[in-house]
Amino acid sequence: MSPSGHTCDVIIVAAGRGQRYGSENPKQYNPLAGRPILRWSLETFVAHPRVRRIVTVIHPDDRASFDAAAMGLRVQSPVLGGATRQESVLRGLECLAADPPDYVLIHDAARPGIDAHVISRVIDALAHAPGVIPVLAVADTLKRIDANARITETVPRAQLAAAQTPQGFHYDKIVAAHRAVRGLELTDDAAVLERAGLGVQTVPGGVANTKITTQDDLNRMEQTLLETRVGTGFDVHRFTEGDHVMLCGVRVPHTHKLLGHSDADVALHAATDAILGAMGAGDIGTHFPPSNAAYKDAPSEKFLTHAMALLRARGGTLTHLDITIICERPKVGPHREAMVAHLASIAGVEPNRISVKATTTEGLGFTGRGEGIAAQATATVRAPM
Ligand code: MG
Repeated sequence: MSPSGHTCDVIIVAAGRGQRYGSENPKQYNPLAGRPILRWSLETFVAHPRVRRIVTVIHPDDRASFDAAAMGLRVQSPVLGGATRQESVLRGLECLAADPPDYVLIHDAARPGIDAHVISRVIDALAHAPGVIPVLAVADTLKRIDANARITETVPRAQLAAAQTPQGFHYDKIVAAHRAVRGLELTDDAAVLERAGLGVQTVPGGVANTKITTQDDLNRMEQTLLETRVGTGFDVHRFTEGDHVMLCGVRVPHTHKLLGHSDADVALHAATDAILGAMGAGDIGTHFPPSNAAYKDAPSEKFLTHAMALLRARGGTLTHLDITIICERPKVGPHREAMVAHLASIAGVEPNRISVKATTTEGLGFTGRGEGIAAQATATVRAPM
């Protein structure tokens, strides 16, 4: 319920087959930065405080894809679409008729970049108009062209705008208008209301709220959704009796070993914390409490594997990982190449995205006195945040 007391439901139209997209699945179920395109819209509407119910209209073949895309989200059971977009919208509208909302927003699943501000602007304007759509001004000069791709006219663009969704309506008005034009083919829902002689107001749309039609559109959208973040990690382990240390997952012979609950791989711990830090996802202790006996003497590779799985689940990638190992001995240089190769294979990235360096502290401090090894790491990630 909105602050003005009006109920607002949402219909997401996801029944299309997307022939121009060129993939086996309908495009709305393909991943965009790790999540199905449809899910981006669903999450945005679910999170909007003025939205009551969300109904998705799907193709009868897509039930399993829909269930996967909507998993865990508070949405209604989907409605099966019809032969045309208009028929699909009408089916969505009819399914709300038993408990009709005051307002309904109709949104295309192919617009995953919809944001809460655009939704709020549409709902606000519905207080003064029976229909409201978000639009963007047309920036490019428009040409009318003929069948031979020759320009026949330059179209003045001052009075033109590009229509987006969600298109918002007073529910009773749009459902009556849709029923009245059944069988006619109109381009969008605003056109249905226009035909009923009712005024449609425009509000500013969103720059990111573009329609994904081709794989190129998806790649561009992915770039706008991804953000670069940097995280740092630091760790220290002390020496104890032993004959080797684990560094970056590589066994390095030494006069001592490192003391720790796991295999005490100080470099992998710093690297894991750097990746978790870049995601704002806590630290290694949050995910693997030392109190848990399962991690006793555990190979530390599993910590990095876990952080990378978390990053991938969020649709992220590791751009670069830079590790500095700080100790007088053992010498890191002879093992550096093996360490880089090993880290690359654990993280599932090319070796040129990994760097391992070493330094001494000129005999100063605890590392200088040979009491232990320190490591620091910097991770750069690209992920939707
Ligand atoms: Mg540690």
